[in-house]
Amino acid sequence: MIDFEIPEKIAQICTVVESVAVNMMRPVSRYFDEHEHEIPWDYITFMHTATRAMGGSSMVPGTSKSEGPRIGFQRLAFMVEMLSWGDAGMYLCTPGGMLGSAAVSATGTPEQKERFLKRFRGEKPVFDAMCMTEPQCGSDTSAIRASAVLDKKTNEWVLNGEKIFVTAGQKALVDSNGFIVVWATIDPKAGRAGMRPFVVEAGAPGCSVVKMEHKLGIRASDTVSIVLQDCRIPFDNILGSPEVITDKATTGFKGAMATFDATRPIVAAQAIGLARATLELVKEMLAEQGVTIRYGLPRQKMTLIEREIVDMEIMLRSAWLVTIKAVWMADNGKPNSLEASMSKVRSGDVVTKITQKAVELMGPVGYSREHLLEKWFRDAKISDIYEGTGQINRLIVARQILGYRSSELR
Ligand SMILES: Cc1cc2nc3c(=O)[nH]c(=O)nc-3n(C[C@H](O)[C@H](O)[C@H](O)COP(=O)(O)OP(=O)(O)OC[C@H]3O[C@@H](n4cnc5c(N)ncnc54)[C@H](O)[C@@H]3O)c2cc1C
Repeated sequence: MIDFEIPEKIAQICTVVESVAVNMMRPVSRYFDEHEHEIPWDYITFMHTATRAMGGSSMVPGTSKSEGPRIGFQRLAFMVEMLSWGDAGMYLCTPGGMLGSAAVSATGTPEQKERFLKRFRGEKPVFDAMCMTEPQCGSDTSAIRASAVLDKKTNEWVLNGEKIFVTAGQKALVDSNGFIVVWATIDPKAGRAGMRPFVVEAGAPGCSVVKMEHKLGIRASDTVSIVLQDCRIPFDNILGSPEVITDKATTGFKGAMATFDATRPIVAAQAIGLARATLELVKEMLAEQGVTIRYGLPRQKMTLIEREIVDMEIMLRSAWLVTIKAVWMADNGKPNSLEASMSKVRSGDVVTKITQKAVELMGPVGYSREHLLEKWFRDAKISDIYEGTGQINRLIVARQILGYRSSELR
């Protein structure tokens, strides 16, 4: 049964994370928005030191020594919600486990998890990233063209291709001794069945960052293009057991889906933190103008603005509830594809609607750079794009509910 009380261990961590969000993120939020591609090292160093003191990476469920059983994903969701309340772009600069680690956790062997994730426990902050998207391939992952060919003489994989819009790729490959997980095909004719995840470590020959994007929002976070040109990596950097090479069933695609089942509720938590920040600020601004929300009133007796605020609160809480359900299921080993996609759809909608409504309700103040509302409006939209767009996650939800295969409902 789902318990809606925050477990004590998570509550303790949330208190610390809230202080980070208030004192280390909010004061520099505007600065890093206006100085795109500058790196918030103070925040990064603090987070790295704090998570090391906890005995592992709090960003990767299951690796912290202080972690009790079955709360890793829930803890991560609460942390991410709070960090994103502080600043969604800076949260994406948190060292010690992002999408690349999620792919390692979802698809790697125990030996690979230890080998690749232990670097997060080292002295210096380390980052990771995941590369799925290519110039001709976004939502339709079967269109991947990046290739991996085994060189039997040297027992190395040789990777070729281009990956675009890689979150934290610069930090993973250039600013730290991190890694990226590259989805490539070992059989271009096999579509999704040929897809496999490969770990490319910083310094791998033939792997280079070639472009940094200038973006609408989450500007503290780097987003890069990466070229793989005869990039050689060790044989056992293919994630999963050796059978994944010969097993032509949709092993690779299943690995990608398992990764998304883990990460989509976390993207949802990011959206919810940002939406909560927005709603709280709007209510503070309204209170300064003498407008308070009379929650006990029947709806027909409320003012229009009171109804708008109450509706936003309903949206926010419903998004959080489905997100908590999705992470609780992940912690308890229950298949959560449906809830993961639902949480992503709902929170992507909610954060874009709440931030848009906030700018609208506050008028010129909402539009001005004097406050963060206009920034949050820009930061919000990404939640509805990466890790599967709103449309794609709706398709997944529909397929799950109706029992259709992807070939039957596309
Ligand atoms: C800031 C940022 C960071 C990113 N970080 C990463 C990252 O770290 N790693 C990574 O691999 N990728 C990353 N991405 C890429 C992101 O995941 C893709 O942009 C996303 O998957 C959509 O792919 P696409 O842009 O090619 O759009 P397309 O697939 O071309 O889709 C265009 C539009 O058509 C819609 N659409 C497509 N197919 C269907 C369908 N069957 N039914 C209905 N509608 C459909 C989509 O929802 C979308 O609205 C990032 C993108 C951004 C902007």
